[in-house]
Amino acid sequence: MSILIKNVNVLTMETENGQLKAPFTADIVVEDGRITLIGSAPEAEYDEVLDGSHRLAMPGLINAHGHAGMSLMRGFGDDMELMSWLHDRIFPTEERLVENDVLLGGRLAVLEMIKTGTTAFADMYFFCDKLAQAVEEGGIRASISQGMNFSPAERIQTAFALNYKPTTDRITMMFGPHAPYTCSEEFLTAQAEVARESGIPIHIHLCETQDEERQIKEKYGCTPVEFLRRCDFFRGNKVLAAHGVWLHDEDIEYLKDYDFSVASNPVSNLKLASGIAPVKKLLDAGINVAVGTDSVCSNNNIDMFEELRTACLVAKVRDLDPLAVPAGTALQLATVNGAKALALSELGVLREGAKADIILIDTDQPHFFPRHDMISHLVYAASGKDVASVICDGKIIMRDRQVLTLDEERVMYEANEAAMRLCYSK
Ligand SMILES: [Zn+2]
Repeated sequence: MSILIKNVNVLTMETENGQLKAPFTADIVVEDGRITLIGSAPEAEYDEVLDGSHRLAMPGLINAHGHAGMSLMRGFGDDMELMSWLHDRIFPTEERLVENDVLLGGRLAVLEMIKTGTTAFADMYFFCDKLAQAVEEGGIRASISQGMNFSPAERIQTAFALNYKPTTDRITMMFGPHAPYTCSEEFLTAQAEVARESGIPIHIHLCETQDEERQIKEKYGCTPVEFLRRCDFFRGNKVLAAHGVWLHDEDIEYLKDYDFSVASNPVSNLKLASGIAPVKKLLDAGINVAVGTDSVCSNNNIDMFEELRTACLVAKVRDLDPLAVPAGTALQLATVNGAKALALSELGVLREGAKADIILIDTDQPHFFPRHDMISHLVYAASGKDVASVICDGKIIMRDRQVLTLDEERVMYEANEAAMRLCYSK
């Protein structure tokens, strides 16, 4: 399978002297899943040719935290406190959730991600094999973890990460202990040990709200990070922590020496009034920061362009510093840093030899003019709706806004039917 993208404006996301390389015009050739050339393509036969003349090519975006299966609950319970939203609305509905709901909600999420330029995501939920099926069908990538809460330590042996055999290398796994306030000390200690032995990364919610910190303080007399340290959670493990809003300076000082990434979810944190993560402080300490949307229940879309713009804007207002997270850094959070957070090191940049996850942005629109600075336009002016075509793993999965891997109308119809049954049947 070969693809030629002819005469396109290329943003590689590679850096030169600490700055992002400015976009330049070139052809891109993709063969057997990899980028084989960025330059002047030779006259040859290609299986597919895409005209890049009104397009900008950049790496597919990476959503570092979400719950695709919750897509059926979009708009079902907004404007509530996190704890009452979880306990009164989400947890009771989730008790009725069946496997097929995760398949149908997963397909809806994958469809939305393709249409807004996301080609890889980290997810935590239940019925993970059903989400894996939706990801496989959609043609994108996911690092899937099974959320575990209030579980005995023995259940770790049944985790998706230890038992699932993926049929495509687009699917990888992580462990998913839900959070310090929903897992016991014994469970988290055992989880850390099993992760160390197996080399499988861990995905967890951490330091999301002040209420979480209060609960952990009451129970254990320490902060959530100190509690996890007691569980020997970080030593020898690769940890992806969602939120990190209430990380203290001492936590950052400690965590910077570990293989630790934060997935910041600014829209969710704003909507649930959880706070604003110290993104600049984390980056300055050398901690890898990526961006995630969290579920559509607290967002309510999974458009990574909106998310990365919000990450950039709230970082500025948090520190009252307009330079806190500049546009180029915001793009890095959603590409190279996302790749690192998901342990998918080959992704997040366009370079010869790298895996071909490429999105083409339609820049022939008023909000991309005048052409002062495309990096600025992508962060401060663009949205997911500007994504025209998507290539993942060397295959075209959306061409001129038409998704080729999923039946869009059917996905939306079936998700709606399932949601009505799930949320309103007694
Ligand atoms: Zn979450």
